[in-house]
Amino acid sequence: MAQNIIRVRDNIYTITENLGSNDSAIVTSAGVVLFDSPHKASDAMNWRRFVESLGPTKYLIISDHHIDHTLSAYFFGGEMIATVGTRDTLLDRHPTSPFMDYVLGHFDPTGVPLIHGDYEYRIPDITVTDRMTLFLGDTEIQLIHKKGHTPNNLMAYLPKEKVLFSGDNVCECGLPSSQECCLPDVFDTIDFILNELDVDTIVPGHGDVTDKDGARKYRQMYLDYVNEINARMNRGDSKEKIQDELRFPDLIHCDTERYTGYPDEMVDGFQRNSVSRIYDQLLAMGGTWGDRK
Ligand SMILES: [Zn+2]
Repeated sequence: MAQNIIRVRDNIYTITENLGSNDSAIVTSAGVVLFDSPHKASDAMNWRRFVESLGPTKYLIISDHHIDHTLSAYFFGGEMIATVGTRDTLLDRHPTSPFMDYVLGHFDPTGVPLIHGDYEYRIPDITVTDRMTLFLGDTEIQLIHKKGHTPNNLMAYLPKEKVLFSGDNVCECGLPSSQECCLPDVFDTIDFILNELDVDTIVPGHGDVTDKDGARKYRQMYLDYVNEINARMNRGDSKEKIQDELRFPDLIHCDTERYTGYPDEMVDGFQRNSVSRIYDQLLAMGGTWGDRK
């Protein structure tokens, strides 16, 4: 299948059209650096063919422990870099065979045989606690750990190119699942990106390549969602009632024209678990999200 690979800069390629994470390749004179790996094993075969045409892979940076960023790490070379939390979480509870067969059986049947045989869930080789910088020839890649989408998120910032790979701390096509999100870090991290980083281009975790305006829109959408949960809590709605009624805009897990998404019961589970997580965190903050802008 032909792939629509976007050339973000002369030396940076990304693919945004697949189910799961956006996947990127940064070409440096010291080797290729990958950011995230495809969700579908069949997409990984296509992406790997392209990546190998760019030269040897030096590093594979992973933004968080979720299956849509990590399942295919096994198929790629280079040393795998992630936060300590991502490594610990994958060691503790990486997805295993019956579940992976179930989801891939639904949206990637041709990929199922690829996650059997020698396949094993890949665990990061190198961990980042807070920050780390890679100097590869003329290319500087700053790795920045920021909580938000999960406690474990890692972003890659290229100051010379003014490009940020945000992972799911910024998405372009609706909200990701909030089932492991950290409040208020979700917003603090977007504010960090907006105020502290000199970027012209943001390659988000999911959706089209965007910029700071896109990050602002995403922030507002997320804020509206959290505020809505907070308002319903404060008028006395139970968590279950909010879970039954409220749906965030989700174009990440659902079917699209380009691919089959997750089974309906899982998509519904992401919605319900997201409300639960945010409800519990708001409750722990005294139920007063207040007038955060
Ligand atoms: Zn994701």
